Amino acid sequence: MSVIFSLEAEPSLSRETLLHWLREKDPSALETLWRHADETRKAHVGDEVHLRGLLEISNHCVRSCGYCGIAAYREGLTRYRMTAEEIRDGARLAAEVGCGTVVMQSGEDYGLTREFVAEAVRFVKGDVGLAVTLSLGERPEGDLEAWREAGADRYLLRFETSDAELYERIHPSLPGRHSDRFAQLRQLRRLGYEAGSGVMVGIPGQSLESLAEDLLAFCELDLDMIGIGPYIADPATPLGKSLASLGEEQAPASEELVLKMVALARLVRPDANLPATTALATMDRAQGRELGLTRGANILMPNLTPAKYRRLYAIYPDKAGADQGPTQTVEGIKAKILALGRTVGHGPGGRASTRS
Ligand code: SAH
Repeated sequence: MSVIFSLEAEPSLSRETLLHWLREKDPSALETLWRHADETRKAHVGDEVHLRGLLEISNHCVRSCGYCGIAAYREGLTRYRMTAEEIRDGARLAAEVGCGTVVMQSGEDYGLTREFVAEAVRFVKGDVGLAVTLSLGERPEGDLEAWREAGADRYLLRFETSDAELYERIHPSLPGRHSDRFAQLRQLRRLGYEAGSGVMVGIPGQSLESLAEDLLAFCELDLDMIGIGPYIADPATPLGKSLASLGEEQAPASEELVLKMVALARLVRPDANLPATTALATMDRAQGRELGLTRGANILMPNLTPAKYRRLYAIYPDKAGADQGPTQTVEGIKAKILALGRTVGHGPGGRASTRS
């Protein structure tokens, strides 16, 4: 391997090196990448795998993202919003099964009012004693401020792709409100949140070059958490019907490319928290989570959404775990962690506490 593409030689990987690895096809060369990512994970965040209990608190959404199955335009989908009591029960369950964090995720739903969410945050933080991550879309600064004051620790907002033109195409702005997730991530940092972002891999029209730019953006934003999953086409969405492709340079929505992105994300942001995502597990039910965990990831997010809502949070089709009860999900996940010779993390598992 030539020196410029060596993983040891460079403290921060160049655009050229990143692109080289994204294009690499030779399995024995890729072994080097997997090994470096795993060693870097072990050196910087250790063997603990932290569990974040996911509550999908609403599938209402004002947005019309071309990739997402719960977008506003989606007809024939029963919409739900969890009650305060259901959220409280979910948080208690998360604590019982050993999660250090509750992640509340939803469509961009203004029916989830500032005060409703603040109250839920106070309960999870104050009464149950777990860390709180929010992933509620592009909310106004006043909401983000109020939730931070109520005790929320982290916020997840994927920028989806750093290709501005592609982003605009798949994620239309709301009238009069230009969508700039980079600006919003900086705002989250200013407010004192740990900031999480990430991308989908294999969006029609996404190039390998733009994936290299995504990795550079992870560095520039100094992200605390990075979620990377395959784009999964949903025929109920405009993008799911699209046949757009860049030919040779089109990034495939393949498991190997997702794993390369996870491994490279670990190398460029050694102490960040990286989940092995549900989308990866959906693409490879047999071993997606394990492959993620052995190629850079250190976080799993068991889905604790009440059974009656699970299928309705249909951001993409056939989501892994949609048919399992929470205890079954968590027990299965813990068994996988132990089988890899890793341990189940205790405590909130924020970036600050794992920073080397
Ligand atoms: N409303 C919130 C949460 C969205 S769901 C927000 O927009 O931030 C969380 C993530 O699921 C999205 O950021 C997106 O990266 C991913 N997602 C949505 N649709 C998807 C699809 N069809 N395939 C793969 N991932 C998808």
